[in-house]
Amino acid sequence: MKESEVQQIVDKYKDEYIKLLGLEKWIIHFYYGQTISKFRSDCLAHINYKSAIITFSPEKLTDEETVKAVLLHELIHCIVSTFRTYETAAIELIPSLEERRAVYPIFIRASEEVVCDFVRIIQKMQNISIH
Ligand SMILES: [Zn+2]
Repeated sequence: MKESEVQQIVDKYKDEYIKLLGLEKWIIHFYYGQTISKFRSDCLAHINYKSAIITFSPEKLTDEETVKAVLLHELIHCIVSTFRTYETAAIELIPSLEERRAVYPIFIRASEEVVCDFVRIIQKMQNISIH
């Protein structure tokens, strides 16, 4: 997709989703271009500052429904970023760097699973309210 198309869809839905998720007090910046990760979008959220940078990679997005789902997904990462506080504390209890590296992917996977569950639940609820 073109960057302008993705931006147009994000602009159309972001306020609705931010309100839905109770993120009105957050400062969220949206960028379009290369993501830090290999994924089609990413979210760098700081729960202590209630701020986030969400980046979309337009060439990896195909249609409006995908952009909406990805927008919702990345915004939910703001909520789930509270787990980072726990992770930061817990990681200090693991003395070995090797063990820390083994635990980190488990933390990431758990966060992603919670985010995906939230997206699925919200999408189901939106379908229920429409019909
Ligand atoms: Zn994610």
